[in-house]
Amino acid sequence: MRRYKWESNLYHGKPYVAGEQPQDEGLVKLNTNENPYPPAPAAVKALRAFAKKSETLKLYPPTDGGALREALADYHEVDTANVFVGNGSDEVLAYAFRACFVGYDPVLFADVTYSFYPVWCQLMDIQKKFIPVKRDLHLRAMSYWRKNGGIVICNPNAPTGIGEGDEFLRDILRHNRKSVVIVDEAYADFAEFSAIPLTAQFPNLLVTRSFSKGRSLAGLRIGYAIGNERLIRALTLVKNSFNSYPVSRLAIEVGTAALSDEKYYRKTIAKVVKTREKTAEGLRKLGFDVPPSQTNFLFCDAASKERAQALFAHLREDGILVRHFDKPRIRSYLRISIGKDLDMEVLVESVKAFLLKEE
Ligand SMILES: *Cc1c(COP(=O)(O)O)cnc(C)c1O
Repeated sequence: MRRYKWESNLYHGKPYVAGEQPQDEGLVKLNTNENPYPPAPAAVKALRAFAKKSETLKLYPPTDGGALREALADYHEVDTANVFVGNGSDEVLAYAFRACFVGYDPVLFADVTYSFYPVWCQLMDIQKKFIPVKRDLHLRAMSYWRKNGGIVICNPNAPTGIGEGDEFLRDILRHNRKSVVIVDEAYADFAEFSAIPLTAQFPNLLVTRSFSKGRSLAGLRIGYAIGNERLIRALTLVKNSFNSYPVSRLAIEVGTAALSDEKYYRKTIAKVVKTREKTAEGLRKLGFDVPPSQTNFLFCDAASKERAQALFAHLREDGILVRHFDKPRIRSYLRISIGKDLDMEVLVESVKAFLLKEE
C-alpha cells in the first residue's frame, strides 16, 4: 500500500487493549472485572429524577465535579481541595501522569501490573522502568528505593489480585520524598487496606479510585483522586489544558446518589468477596494455584501457557469469557472476574469438565 508523506506525522504508539465487550448477552462475562450486581437503588432513583429535569442538560456541568466532589470529600473526611473528579479513573490517571511526571528520571512501576501505565508513558514521552515483582507476585518495596521521576503502585495489583498493606506503602513513601507516588486503588473497595489516610501525612502521595468496579458504574465513567492540594491543583491545571468539563451533569447526580447508599455498597462488596473466596477454594481444590485476591477477580495459574490457552478456549466454547495475557511471567495464568454465585458455579463445573477431557 502506498504511504503518503503526511502519514509519518501520525501517532502510531501502542494502545491499551481492553477486554472484549461481546454483543452476545448469553455469555458468562468474566473478562473485564465489572461488578455483577446493579448500581445502588439510590443511583437508579437519581437517574429517574434526572429525566424530569433533562432541560438542565443544555447547560455545561460545573468544571470541578460540583456536588460529587463535595460528597467525596465528606465521604473520605478530607477537604474538597484534596479531591479531583474525572471521567473514569483511567482519565484521572492519564492526567496524573501528565501532571506529576515531568521530571527527567524514569517513572517506576511493576513489570506485572496494569498495562495502561506504559501506554501513557509512551503517549506522553515519559521515561519508565519496570520493577520486577517477586516470584510469588508480591511487590518488593526495596526495589523502589532508587532515584526516580515518580512511582506508580497498583494496589491491590492487577492482574494478580494481590494486595500490599500499610507497612509496604509507608516503606516506599519513607524512602521516596522527592517524587510523586501514585497509588491506583481501582480495586481497593474489595481490599482490607486503603492508602487514602496516608495522604494526610505524605504530601507526595496521590491515590486514585474508581466507581467502575466497587460501585457497579463502569458505564457512567467516574473516577477520582485524593491527595495534597498542590497535587490536586496540578491535576486541575492539566484538566483545564485539555477538557474543562470532563464529568457530565448526569454522572455528578447519579454518582453522588451512589455514594450516599453505603448500606447497599457494603452489601454488594461483601457478596462479591464471599463468592471470590468460595471460587478460589473451588479452583484450588481442582489443583490450581490461585494467589489470595483482594479484588473482584482471581488470577489462576494453569501451569503453562499452552494449558492456559487450552483452558481459555474450553471455557469460551462453554460460553464463559475470561482473560489471558500473553505476556512474560504471566502466560500460564487466566484472570477470572467474580460474577454472581451461579456464574462461578458454571465456571467451576466447566473447569472440571476440562480436567476430565485432559485425562
Ligand atoms: C479498571 C481499572 C482502572 C480504570 O477504571 P475506570 O474508572 O473505569 O477508568 C484503573 N486502574 C486499574 C488497575 C483498573 O483495573
